[in-house]
Amino acid sequence: MDAPKKPVPVVNPWAKPFWDAAKEERFIIQKCADCGKYIFYPRIACPHCFSDAVEWFPASGRATVYTYTVVESNAPSAFIADMPYVIAVVRLEEGGVQMLTNIVGCKPEDVRCDMPVEVVFEKLNDDFNLPKFRPAAK
Ligand SMILES: [Zn+2]
Repeated sequence: MDAPKKPVPVVNPWAKPFWDAAKEERFIIQKCADCGKYIFYPRIACPHCFSDAVEWFPASGRATVYTYTVVESNAPSAFIADMPYVIAVVRLEEGGVQMLTNIVGCKPEDVRCDMPVEVVFEKLNDDFNLPKFRPAAK
């Protein structure tokens, strides 16, 4: 029996630039050209002013941990070999934008709220790199 495989992202057409950039290890998010606010997750219109003038730009990749949990038990799945692992919401340096992600590159017990982190790309398969975050370099 084959081991379960991890799910792959379902890519909506308007999110394709995000995944194409991630594949090249570039981290981009959207910004509204009308109200100037940053936007994540990818959308076809600004959630703040409903303008469709949303543009892509390179984000810094810097963030802080807003909240997190450590997964130490799980139903049989493709994620069992990763345990324990950290699921977190990080706040990007670009104000007002949060992202659901994993914290990697440190022990789960070393993760703290407000900890500075930086984006790192983890290869899922030949089509996808997943943006994750690790403790920021000092
Ligand atoms: Zn807007």
